Amino acid sequence: RPRVLSGAQPTADSYHLGNYIGAFRQWVALQDEFEAFYFIPDMHAITVDYDPVQLRERTYVAAAQLIAAGVDPERSALFVQSHVPEHAQLAWVLNGITGFGEASRMTQFKDKSAKTGAESASVGLFTYPILMAADILIYQADRVPVGEDQRQHVELTRNLAQRFNHRFGETFTVPEPHIVKDVAKIYDLQDPSGKMSKSFSSPTGVVNLMDDPKKAAKKIRSAVTDSGTDIRFDPEQKPGISNLLTIYSALTDRSVDDIVGEYAGQQYGHLKVALADIVADLVADFGDRTRELLGDRAELDRLLALGAERARAVAAPTLELVYERSGFVKAK
Ligand code: ATP
Ligand code: MG
Repeated sequence: RPRVLSGAQPTADSYHLGNYIGAFRQWVALQDEFEAFYFIPDMHAITVDYDPVQLRERTYVAAAQLIAAGVDPERSALFVQSHVPEHAQLAWVLNGITGFGEASRMTQFKDKSAKTGAESASVGLFTYPILMAADILIYQADRVPVGEDQRQHVELTRNLAQRFNHRFGETFTVPEPHIVKDVAKIYDLQDPSGKMSKSFSSPTGVVNLMDDPKKAAKKIRSAVTDSGTDIRFDPEQKPGISNLLTIYSALTDRSVDDIVGEYAGQQYGHLKVALADIVADLVADFGDRTRELLGDRAELDRLLALGAERARAVAAPTLELVYERSGFVKAK
């Protein structure tokens, strides 16, 4: 079976609706057709300011949420990045073939260092895309399900794979991004010009999957909508209502056209109230399942160990081949 690989950072107390719609639903769907590797990038999470106690807890919450979303740890490898040292080892090799200019063109660094300025951002944040390339290439992944915001990083990964293959001999599978166009980007509810995000969104702009259902419903009802009153899908002129339509469509598996048809002649408020109920049900259900999973840490540890073992079974031989191709003397 072809392989997929994806991850979501434990950089907040909860994942959000954008992660769920833009990423996790695809992860779950791809489990049948692909051999799936899904991981919690704790090593990526330390490239920005963080608290160690919080990171450990967030990593467990992330694992529980991914399982609650439908990732099946018995079928797919679900693991924590730091449990598989080959990611970091390959990243170092890739650092050697990445141009400084090339790395400088990654927009995430600019975005995420905007607050503090590049001077005080970490070098880890700068080389983040190279670790991400290693995450993907170490599994010889064929497909990488990500949201639109990660496209540039997958492109870099492809370039590095091709470059390494060209210089040192065929080693890596060149991965394809798997981006589901209609749901690739969910926008901030209060500022639909930016994506819904763990690090950038204001608390009312993002629905967390662990939100109290009433609070989540309120966030949807108070979402910024556009001037005019008619409900139609027009991301340019009507980014607010279009975002709500995307969310509505994703959570009900109905087409946007179908929903627009249903609300023809009605006000924004009607749509918001209906969507608020749908979102409240989702987070209520999701929160219950996550809390139940978090109640048994020993079981989570067992599942993560199982995932790491499966991951290492693929990662270790890839690294061995890379080291050999790179000209390192084999440790005897
Ligand atoms: P951070 O701010 O820490 O980067 P994030 O909100 O961007 O957090 P990530 O952990 O970086 O979330 O991303 C996890 C996955 O969710 C990635 O595949 C990413 O493309 C996807 N994703 C993130 N935000 C959105 C969004 N608003 N819409 C659709 N997909 C998203
Ligand atoms: Mg991100």
